Amino acid sequence: MSVALEKMYEALGVSREVYEFGKTIEEGLKERFARIDLNAEYNQLKVVGAMQKCRVSAECFQSGTGYGYNDIGRETLESVYAEIFHTEAALVRPQITCGTHALALALSANLRPGDELLSISGKPYDTLEEVIGIRPSVGSLAEYGVTYAQVDLLPDGSFDFEGIRSAIHEKTRLIEIQRSKGYQTRPTLSVEKIAQAIAFVKSIRSDIIVMVDNCYGEFVECEEPSDYGADMVVGSLIKNPGGGLAPVGGYIAGTNECVERSAYRLTSPGLGKEVGATLGVNKDFFQGLFLAPTVVAGALKGAIFAANIYEKLGFHVVPNGTESRHDIIQAVEFGFPEGVIAFCEGIQAAAPVDSYVTPEPWAMPGYDSDVIMAAGAFVQGSSIELSADGPIKPPYAVYFQGGLTWEHAKLGILKSLQRLVEKNLVTI
Ligand SMILES: *Cc1c(COP(=O)(O)O)cnc(C)c1O
Repeated sequence: MSVALEKMYEALGVSREVYEFGKTIEEGLKERFARIDLNAEYNQLKVVGAMQKCRVSAECFQSGTGYGYNDIGRETLESVYAEIFHTEAALVRPQITCGTHALALALSANLRPGDELLSISGKPYDTLEEVIGIRPSVGSLAEYGVTYAQVDLLPDGSFDFEGIRSAIHEKTRLIEIQRSKGYQTRPTLSVEKIAQAIAFVKSIRSDIIVMVDNCYGEFVECEEPSDYGADMVVGSLIKNPGGGLAPVGGYIAGTNECVERSAYRLTSPGLGKEVGATLGVNKDFFQGLFLAPTVVAGALKGAIFAANIYEKLGFHVVPNGTESRHDIIQAVEFGFPEGVIAFCEGIQAAAPVDSYVTPEPWAMPGYDSDVIMAAGAFVQGSSIELSADGPIKPPYAVYFQGGLTWEHAKLGILKSLQRLVEKNLVTI
């Protein structure tokens, strides 16, 4: 078998020495992979249990058009999400265009002029800067008279509880916590740490709404921030919970009040959740959610495999090869631009779609340097699918995430290593 497998890798452009190098690394990861599988097993049961409890039926896959009144699929899916996240309600819609939109929706629906939004996990994700108005932008919360304050994480990545206490005042209406590090170098927050922060905030003022940006974190652990009193968890369906099948969408799971306000904001006051045609996406939303726990497990294994390969070669990797994981993003710091480029070329060459194109750095709007991106995805921009990108500037780090299956993530990482070897950028 291993000879046949090796030949297959060779046919796909992975040399024997690269394959063997990967094999040694993989052998050292057996125990961790087994723990990831256990986590996936738990979450698979959680998802199936929720689908059974909510009586998902074939009828749910029928497609609504027009106003979308009485869409049983949409309503059942929202109950399933609420069940999984242990929240009172959920809003899960193809009309929510992406993660940023879901977060902007949750914020603008639950804040009123004169309220203050407080981020307690430092600077929020880049795209939220314009939503909030940290960078002036048309339609920002700032334009509507919502102020913003921020408490940075401490240098070790933990919450600054004293800072939080002194930043909370009577105008503080909503606290944001970002679970994933996104494209920063701080550690990702575990659900346990988030739980401590929520308890702390609620002990100061129980009426403050706590919203968690849950992007990239779903199903990485057995529990979610909503299990510990987050009033809303918010994310994108072209990341973890869409399981690679959702073609679009976002979700907000939380208290009845928060979700209702979000629905009134998404559609219109008075209409709320009652409208919103699903246009045929219901089956993919359900099926993607069903697959999500194992898809996330594959992506996690890929991230850990990449960390260990590149750490072994002497590069700085975040998280490091042995750290516990709370999201699916892996950063590798090459220190030289050719490394970033070769890595992305390898990921692209491993893709099921557009494998024949060569990614090149270019000037993208919103970035202050050239950026290279590798993705050959079934769903455009989907980052639960194998993808990588890196700005061409020091420290020349590449961010890598996704992989619908572990086997594909592994191929991508081996192809990246192959490119680096071929270009004499590393020796193994
Ligand atoms: C991806 C992401 C977002 C934004 O989602 P988009 O779908 O890209 O708009 C927000 N926060 C975090 C932490 C993310 O990872």
